[in-house]
Amino acid sequence: MPELPEVESYCRYCSSVALGKKISKVKTGSRKVLEVSASTLRRHLLHNKLSSCKRHGKYLLMGISDGYLLSMHFGMSGYLDYAREEAPEHTHLSLTLPAGGELVYVCPRKFGRISIAESADAFVKEKGLGPDAMEISKKDFAEKISGYNGSIKGALMNQGLVAGIGNVYSDEILYQEGLLPERKASRLESKKLKKMHSAMKRILNTAIRNKAEREEFPARYLAGRRQEGSSCGICSGKIKKKIHLGRPTYFCPNHQK
Ligand SMILES: [Zn+2]
Repeated sequence: MPELPEVESYCRYCSSVALGKKISKVKTGSRKVLEVSASTLRRHLLHNKLSSCKRHGKYLLMGISDGYLLSMHFGMSGYLDYAREEAPEHTHLSLTLPAGGELVYVCPRKFGRISIAESADAFVKEKGLGPDAMEISKKDFAEKISGYNGSIKGALMNQGLVAGIGNVYSDEILYQEGLLPERKASRLESKKLKKMHSAMKRILNTAIRNKAEREEFPARYLAGRRQEGSSCGICSGKIKKKIHLGRPTYFCPNHQK
């Protein structure tokens, strides 16, 4: 499932291939993925340009030259690509650009969402999103997490507290910080949470630098060893899997306490 680093790489990709180019054709796919009608999308996009691209949490927000924003969420399996020939299967939005190629939003499982927003601030408010994980201050992070009534993993994945972290990166942060996922968020000391904030930024930066390609991450990372029984990259323990909050959760019971 695309989390902050994946969406950041789509954002950078989109900026490099699509900005400032006039859209000559708009094609839409499944109605399930579109939160606005196909005709609304066409009205905003056709013969206009994408003027900017930014990310908030797991959402991509592209500025349109008519002043509105095109928002995208990638659900479980979505991604953004540039198709030079035929658009791939499961394309739900395709924008034809001058050179003939198409910027395509692909989402096989249809859990992603596409919409039009008036402004980034209004969008973030409407979706109830907390500050972006790359932007949130240490103090704000510690306050929000310690005020959460539930597990630390649940707090990290709660988009209303801090936006951008999902299942894989919450596991990674807790693994690197030596904390079990079910530890109660409100019981963690502020000092620990501030250290966790630094770890979160370091991990996300590493992931972004590696274009979210998990096999390129440093060897000690959990992301490349998410398999029951694989060796821990930090100690001599073995990785375990359990279901926590309905999500497959990987951790090392030897060094995570
Ligand atoms: Zn370990």
